[in-house]
Amino acid sequence: MDMPVKSAESLDLFVNAKQQFERALTWVDGIKEGIIDFLINPKRTLHVQFPVNMDDGSTRTFHGFRVMHSDVRGPGKGGIRYHPNVSEAEVSALAAFMTWKTAVVDLPFGGGKGGIICNPKELSRRELRHITRRFVAELGDNIGPYTDIPAPDVYTDAQTMAWIYDTYDRMHPGGNNLAVVTGKPLDIGGSRGRDEATARGSWNATEQLLRRGVVHGMHTLEGARVAVQGYGNAGSIAARLFHDAGAIIVAVSDSRGGVANDEGLDPREVLAFKEETGSVVKFPGSKAISNEDVLAYDCDILIPAALECAITTANARDVKAKLIVEDANGPLTAVSDEVLSKKGIVVLPDILANAGGVVVSYFEWVQNLENQQWSLEKVETLLNERMCRAVDEVVDLYDDLSERYEAGFNKGNPPPTLRDAALVLAINRIATVVLQRDIWP
Ligand code: NAD
Repeated sequence: MDMPVKSAESLDLFVNAKQQFERALTWVDGIKEGIIDFLINPKRTLHVQFPVNMDDGSTRTFHGFRVMHSDVRGPGKGGIRYHPNVSEAEVSALAAFMTWKTAVVDLPFGGGKGGIICNPKELSRRELRHITRRFVAELGDNIGPYTDIPAPDVYTDAQTMAWIYDTYDRMHPGGNNLAVVTGKPLDIGGSRGRDEATARGSWNATEQLLRRGVVHGMHTLEGARVAVQGYGNAGSIAARLFHDAGAIIVAVSDSRGGVANDEGLDPREVLAFKEETGSVVKFPGSKAISNEDVLAYDCDILIPAALECAITTANARDVKAKLIVEDANGPLTAVSDEVLSKKGIVVLPDILANAGGVVVSYFEWVQNLENQQWSLEKVETLLNERMCRAVDEVVDLYDDLSERYEAGFNKGNPPPTLRDAALVLAINRIATVVLQRDIWP
């Protein structure tokens, strides 16, 4: 039965986060009215602006944000993004996703996110270093190993994290400050397996989801046709891991365009080509397709691994995949999610699919606090266990919600999705801790 789409589509990521949250709330019993605002809105939003001397002798003022969405279950945790489109709404939504993600995979963290409005492609290494150090100085004690712990996100990497650590350490001499930031280089407290963790976690979660029989007619990755949007950290590594597990990578794209080959692309060769030329476009032996074509490509699994709101009502009807694995944060608008659900397309939601990054960030934080270095095998085994457990918990809850829906519960609203189940799991975990800690004073 076709349900009317109740909320208007928006490309504002925080509006989408709220729409997802409100939809999930229809499945939750007994949360006090007054707590709901506290659960959705950020606890603290910090705006900073600061000048930086540029290489050409000019001076520019940059604007940055750090949002602590929640510290109910532990310190804030979440990446820092450098991008021209960074905004308060985007950072707030990404911070909310982190709160829900850390709850879904049951980590002792809350959620945070940061960003600086800038175009890293036009900045030198020296300028990026100065921007990063000055940003950390401006954040002061709003970040820290037990308060709010940054990590990499779009266009920030292990080098950026090393600068963050070094700056914080100089501001707080005499202690072990390694745990102030995760995603660091291996030589200064980084964890083995962190660079692959997001993609590996999404692969672990996908295999478990298929084993659970949630996607009709697909129980393994063997022979599955996969299209990947975005060939950066998350997308290129996911392509390799899915390929090595027996899938056929039929199409990939980056910001400049896409390439396809129905016989299969070799993800390692595509990456080597991208590293050499700056793009996947013109990869030898492939046909050129547009960014839009990748999303609509004839495949079994679509992995959006670029930026938010890639799939909207304008293109959702063209999606042919049976399963969407959200390696990116917020790649679907809330309204397009409903369109896909009506088409019977299963969505493994971002707060579960890409949680591997924060899981291994947690492992890094634990290793830093204990002055340990774990083996890669240990990291990968524990990551797989945690991802599979989270998938099982979400699928069990989804089955339970589906049964209750069949029995008449939540009538008038659309049937449950995996995203609803993941959010209900997260909301219940956070609300439980709010009640246990009780409201101060
Ligand atoms: P990245 O910068 O390494 O890669 C982003 C890729 O997307 C690049 O290849 C870029 O060319 C491509 N891209 C940008 N616009 C595009 C478009 N319109 N069409 C196709 N491709 C486009 O970033 P990343 O770390 O891989 O992050 C990608 C997504 O995954 C983001 O949403 C991020 O929040 C999410 N994520 C990343 C991590 C992590 O640990 N890296 C963890 C969780 C979630």
